[in-house]
Amino acid sequence: MQEPFERMVLLNPGPVVVSEKVRKALLRGDICHREEEFSRILKRVRQMLLAAFTPGGGYTSAILTGSGTAAMESSIASSVGEGKAILIINNGVYGERFSRMASIYGHRKFELVYDWRKLPDPGDIEKALREHPEIQVVALVHHETSTGLINPVREIGKIAKKYGKVFLLDSISGLGGEELDLEGCNVDLCVGSANKCIQGLPGLSFVLIKKEEMERLKKIPPRSMYLHIPTLWESQEKGTVPFTPSIPIFYALEAALEELLEEGVQGRIARYRKAAEILRSGFREMGLKPYLPEKLLSNTITTLYLPTGFDYQTLHDGLKESRFVIYAGQERLKGEIFRVANMGELTRKDLEGFLGCLRKIVSRPSASSKAGRSTVRAIILAAGVGKRLMPITGQRPKCLIEIGGKTLLDRYLESLKESSITEVTFVLGHLKEMILPRLKEAENTFKTHYIYNENYTRGSITSLWEARERLQGDVLIMDADVLFHPTLLKRLLESPKKSCFLLEEDFTDTGEEMKLFVQGERVAAISKNAEFGIQNAESRTRQSALRNPHSAIRTLIGEGVGFLKLAGEYCPQLRNTLEDFIREGRLDAEYEEALDRLLSCCEVGYEPVDGLPWIEIDFEEDIQRAEKDILPMLDGNKGELSHKKGLKGRP
Ligand SMILES: *Cc1c(COP(=O)(O)O)cnc(C)c1O
Repeated sequence: MQEPFERMVLLNPGPVVVSEKVRKALLRGDICHREEEFSRILKRVRQMLLAAFTPGGGYTSAILTGSGTAAMESSIASSVGEGKAILIINNGVYGERFSRMASIYGHRKFELVYDWRKLPDPGDIEKALREHPEIQVVALVHHETSTGLINPVREIGKIAKKYGKVFLLDSISGLGGEELDLEGCNVDLCVGSANKCIQGLPGLSFVLIKKEEMERLKKIPPRSMYLHIPTLWESQEKGTVPFTPSIPIFYALEAALEELLEEGVQGRIARYRKAAEILRSGFREMGLKPYLPEKLLSNTITTLYLPTGFDYQTLHDGLKESRFVIYAGQERLKGEIFRVANMGELTRKDLEGFLGCLRKIVSRPSASSKAGRSTVRAIILAAGVGKRLMPITGQRPKCLIEIGGKTLLDRYLESLKESSITEVTFVLGHLKEMILPRLKEAENTFKTHYIYNENYTRGSITSLWEARERLQGDVLIMDADVLFHPTLLKRLLESPKKSCFLLEEDFTDTGEEMKLFVQGERVAAISKNAEFGIQNAESRTRQSALRNPHSAIRTLIGEGVGFLKLAGEYCPQLRNTLEDFIREGRLDAEYEEALDRLLSCCEVGYEPVDGLPWIEIDFEEDIQRAEKDILPMLDGNKGELSHKKGLKGRP
């Protein structure tokens, strides 16, 4: 028999920590779903669902084997009549999910999209319903689990009723955790699942349906076999199910509903509210910044900005060492926030233990003193073919070119070892099988990740795109073809500028160099093309310097070293920009083109290279120059800093 897992304190919004009774219920034994033993359980579960959530009567239910999304989809598949439309209110990930489902089913769709921190505007909803009588269903998410926001169900239900529309509510993370009067809010269809505030196990979901609404649904031709609500309902009314259900999860749901009714839905809500209060007062005390204003918050989720100097993974891993599991932001909030849920069978000791552990992590002297300056992650882009060096790079990738008997890659690793970098992601492509064995040793020093870019013959943007998941928290992005003095890396990492390039003023422009265009302190553009770069830099500065639109600041031009330190706050934007390029089909672009777009809205500074030796290896001549001019200044006198006086650009 396999070892049981040690108890985890799940602070994610489902699945949740369940009671001993629910866990043990799984083992009730083997039964057949066509037998009366199962019918009895099905009947009790349906009765208890209605008793808990629609005590006034008037509703019926259909249960599905499938996670919450299955029940959401069943409601979308079953509720929109032919030729009719649906209005989706979207202010988070689950509103977005409703919307995508409606598109997949080919429904006519209207959508009101709001900022994730804003409540929908009732005026917009009225206007849409007035102007588009073909709208038949209004879909809303009760508790947006992506942020912890509670939507105004009563208000929107009132509008739906006024215009005679069907009101569909996803209350997967609301039922059992939030006040909800289905009848009073005119909800016709309400979607729920077993494993959030009901405290069952994952695998079952359900729809609560007003009885008159059930009659309407029956008249709509089915669009799905498995997810058709009337099909499910008709079997269940006869005490059976159309397809094999997840029987053990039914056992657990029965036990969970017994416990919910014992505690009382009001009692459960009060317990969760109290738990959220304990957590939130702890967060306040630690100075953590909440994502949402307090008045929008649910009883079960708190969304917080990542504290300065922390990326999600570091925070998550630190907490997990003590068995506390938090949850990341989704989509656009990835890398920006973290979520703490308090659903489930959590004790006061769990909550206090968690706060203690979190406090210890966020106040670690090493973390806070380095805050803002402690870049811990590097992404090394080593996938490219090196077309301009083909006679050599046909045999070996650029990063394995030896200068002074040592490969560029080994030199990178040596410099990184002496820096604050603890985690390195290698993006590989061309001849990756030659590079991989050379990285074995790095695995002892760094937490390493490998990403394979299949499109390595295309532009370098494909490499950064493949590494997008690693663009979280403060990162250092490095081209793998530079021979450089270790002080350069140190200067970049220790710079007080949170986002920073390295800039060489002393260079000759042959049109091949990646140039930085600086206005004041800020790198405002990056491009190989000087004219284009200057234009961009100046127009961007004009836009932001509205106070003095005619002030002509001279644009400083320098060569970029091929390394960028980027603050975590800009990572989501960089990921979006990369996605735009990929979506536009621009796979042959250099990643610097995406950076250039980013520079139009992000504050990135620079540190001057000041004559420190470095060279990018692009052409065969660069190898000779590296050996002859740069190497003596690197290896010769390590302690003393050599300067490459008189060395100017490429021949
Ligand atoms: C969790 C959740 C879902 C999806 O549930 P799955 O079980 O992951 O399929 C849908 N809507 C809301 C509001 C949720 O919180």
